[in-house]
Order: sequence, then C-alpha cells, then structure tokens
Amino acid sequence: MVYFNSVVKRADKLIDYCLGHTRFAGIYTPLFCPGRNQYTVNQQQRQDSMMRSNDSNTAHRQLPNLLAEVRACRLCADTLPHPPRPILQADCAARILIIGQAPGIKAHDSALPWNDASGDKLRRWLGVTREQFYSPQFAHLPMAFCFPGYKNGADAPPPKICAPSWHARVMTLLKPALTLHIGRYSQQYYLPEYATLTDAVRATTAHGGERFVLPHPSGRNNRWQSRNPWFESHALTQIQQRVQEVLATT
Ligand code: SF4
Repeated sequence: MVYFNSVVKRADKLIDYCLGHTRFAGIYTPLFCPGRNQYTVNQQQRQDSMMRSNDSNTAHRQLPNLLAEVRACRLCADTLPHPPRPILQADCAARILIIGQAPGIKAHDSALPWNDASGDKLRRWLGVTREQFYSPQFAHLPMAFCFPGYKNGADAPPPKICAPSWHARVMTLLKPALTLHIGRYSQQYYLPEYATLTDAVRATTAHGGERFVLPHPSGRNNRWQSRNPWFESHALTQIQQRVQEVLATT
C-alpha cells in the first residue's frame, strides 16, 4: 500500500510538471506530452497572429488621420520661405523606411519626395526603380517635411522642431524591416553614438542589418565619395543586397 501511494504521488508530480511547463510552451518545451504542447504552441501562434492583426488594423485606422494632421502642420511656418507643404510618404505596408534630410525645391514644387537629381542617384545606389521607390513598400520620412529654403548657397538644415514633433508618432504605426538614414542630420539624430558620418556608414554597412547609414547623394558630397571609394565598391553592394532581400520577402 505504501509503495502504491508513493507511485501515485510520483505520477501526480509528473502530471503537475507537464501541465505547468506547457503553460509556457513556445518558450520552454518538455519532451513529453507532445500532443498538448503542439496544441498550446498553435494556440500561442494564433494569439500572436491575432495581436499582429489587431496592431495592423489599428495602424491602418490611425495612419490616415495622423498624416492629415501632419499635412496641416504650421509649427515652424514663420521660419520657412514658402507656406508649409509637408512632404512625406507612409503606408502601413512599408518595408523600407528612408529618413533623409528635407525636401529640396523640386520635391516641394512637385509634392514628391526625392524628385530630383539626388533622388535619381539614391535610387541608383539602392538598385530600385522609381515605381518601387514610390510604391507603398517604401516610407519617406525626412528630418523635416517642408522645404527649408537656402543657406550659404545650399539647402538650409532641416528645422529642428519637425522630427521630435512627428517622427515617433508616425513610426509607431510602421513596421519596416530596413531603415536607411541618409545624411548626417538623420545619422546624428538617430545614431549619435558614431562620431562622424563616415564612421556610421562604415560600421552599419560592414554587416547586413536592419539599419544602414548612407551619405546624402547630393552632388555636394562627391568629394566625400572620392575620398571614400570603399563606399561605392563595397558598401553599396551590401545595401543593394539587403534592399533586394527585403523587397523579395514583401
Ligand atoms: S517643417 Fe515640419 S514642423 Fe515645420 S511646418 Fe513643416 S511639417 Fe510642421
């Protein structure tokens, strides 16, 4: 009888162990009770999928309203040479997020981001067509959304108030697989741990990842490119491969 009670207790412990651990199936999976684990993993996957779907539905509902709010922004109107015309592109389906500087005058006139010679060069660098670049697969979120005018014969720096006012709110509704920081304003704001833009470009393109820094493709940076030939000969290959991988999995 004593022996029988001991066997029953052990069996109870075994069942407790099995049930207790399957509660965390997906994180810790014991070797026994495979049927129950499979059921629990499937249940967990369904819950994860429902949460992702709810997130996505929420983003789809909120993004149009937020973009309308951005397009009505007048926060730094008194510092701009023209009435504000915020230029950005964002879709919940975007896989690649490009954070550039600020629209130039041609982008301002056409209300299309990167619609100039710098944009042509950037598309060449990334190995994508205009159709891809302006498709919902890409989001364009410059450090300032309005043309800032000129300073010392070049485009003025992006107004500092823009990115802190809007970026975080837009980004919570996006889920890009790859983020490209174009130019030093974007790099300094998002990746200040790098002392220079060159350090940031070199480090982020040394291995494929979720975030790359590129120099601004403006002709004013031709000298930077000729001083850093590794960028065109090696770094661009990394970037193009990663861009194609991300687009292929969309
Ligand atoms: S630059 Fe940005 S903060 Fe300034 S008016 Fe345009 S959208 Fe608003």
